[in-house]
Amino acid sequence: MSTVPLYTSRLWPPVRPRTGDASASTPDLLHTLGLIARTDATGVHTLLPLGLRVHDRLTAIARRAFEERGALTFAPPTLQSRTLWDQTGRWDRYRREGALLTATSSSGEEMCLAPTSEEIAAATVREHLRSHRDLPVRLSLSTRKFRDEISPRGGLMRGREFTMADAYTFDTGPDTMRDSIDFLNHACTAALTAMGLTGVFTAPADGGSISAGPSTEHLVLANSGQGTILACTHCGNRGDGAVLAAHPPPPDPEPVVNVIAFTLTLPDGTTRPATVAIRSDLHVNPRKVATATGAAHVDLIDPARLPEVLGKNAGTLTPWDADNATDVLALYDLSAADLELFAISDGNTGLRAGVRWSGTRGLPALHPSGVDLHQATERSGCGACRQGRYSALRAVEVAHVFELGTQYATSMNLHYRGHDGHPTTPWMACSGIGITRCLQTAAGLNRDQHGLRWAPGTGPADVHLVVLRADQPAMRDRGERLARDLTARHVSVLVDDRPQPAGDKLRYARLLGLPHALVLSPDHPDTETEVITRSTGRTTRTDLSHITDRNPFTHT
Ligand SMILES: [Zn+2]
Repeated sequence: MSTVPLYTSRLWPPVRPRTGDASASTPDLLHTLGLIARTDATGVHTLLPLGLRVHDRLTAIARRAFEERGALTFAPPTLQSRTLWDQTGRWDRYRREGALLTATSSSGEEMCLAPTSEEIAAATVREHLRSHRDLPVRLSLSTRKFRDEISPRGGLMRGREFTMADAYTFDTGPDTMRDSIDFLNHACTAALTAMGLTGVFTAPADGGSISAGPSTEHLVLANSGQGTILACTHCGNRGDGAVLAAHPPPPDPEPVVNVIAFTLTLPDGTTRPATVAIRSDLHVNPRKVATATGAAHVDLIDPARLPEVLGKNAGTLTPWDADNATDVLALYDLSAADLELFAISDGNTGLRAGVRWSGTRGLPALHPSGVDLHQATERSGCGACRQGRYSALRAVEVAHVFELGTQYATSMNLHYRGHDGHPTTPWMACSGIGITRCLQTAAGLNRDQHGLRWAPGTGPADVHLVVLRADQPAMRDRGERLARDLTARHVSVLVDDRPQPAGDKLRYARLLGLPHALVLSPDHPDTETEVITRSTGRTTRTDLSHITDRNPFTHT
């Protein structure tokens, strides 16, 4: 963190007498106060001098949280070669999903601007990893990343270029990987708390395609949040609907049971078809199917292939067809298994009503054993306490910790000599903290009716030095002297040296929201200053020697 004092008279953009509006949205306030600027590209922002200082402080906080716990920082490039991304197959997959920004060099080399760092981290470790004695390896990094977002929005919340502080760990097996996951979660919690993100909580999530297992999201509740989580009204159990234990909501008067077909890929690479009978108003969650069956991947069977695999067209399968099919694992969601009377497909395009599991209308009895396989919704009951229901809350995901397992290391041919002397694949895990997203989230969470309120150690500076009557040389000298004394003690200072009325300057100080404002006035003895604490609004008069001797402003 630079300790060169900032002067409002030299800031860009200039501070105007009526700069900023405390009632504006957080992205607009960051914009009008001159922390960030929009560019011609949607979802791509410039960090202006004040915003860059916040960004660098949050980055330093994340770096310190990881380094204090033993994960040193390295700096891989963001511009990466296609050959690296082909090793995990993610070049094609991310291109298909439209998530990868790519470029071709003048010599024809295909490159991408990386959205994430699994490949480069694994390649960096691969070069030097030899023996089990080298493990665990824990490394952190903080880089600009790029994602070809279809709908960038919300200022810094979901951009196409953003800063992510991530960490990657490499271990000898699943147990030691879980130690590393604890390490990653602790470091993320420490970093987010130090960033002033009060009320951060963790919740289980569906790690999506990046993850080998369930993941952990670090979230804060905020109406500006782009995501939704479910929370139990009774016990407080909360998280992503994909992984929360749930009881199905009450059925419609005439419920229909559908059968959905999947291919399970087991950890040994073999595949097996599976079906899930589920009420038609709910969705099967593949993560829950993976957990219930031990499958590494669960993929919907392409409807065009269904006749070949199950002898039926899509939409015409019944639970009895699934039960009769050989080599098919027939599963039943609780929503279907608990029904008394329901309708199923008639085998063509219509429905056959009045069906019971006990067997009616020519169907033999079937004895389904219900499993929780549906995506929890706002209407679902809580599966943890079995008493409450879920309600939806807006939240911001500020960090995420993933179990990566061996999938990246295997495909990238990363191994070490194990205890038995044989080549062994390390187990990986990772975490990511969205630094630019945290910047806007912290600003939004902590603001009040007067403007921003930065937590100690996170704002553009520690102290806002308001020099009244700065047109008088004697007052300017007093300001310069105090700024010098404070910076010598590693307190970062923003000096308001504009010849503006006191009211304007104090309003600007409240709006920008540095933790402390020091007011130098020609009406006070030149050994004294007024100290205004932004979080409480409290004003005290203090002797300058007290401030320069005790330095109450830095919390490092
Ligand atoms: Zn509950």
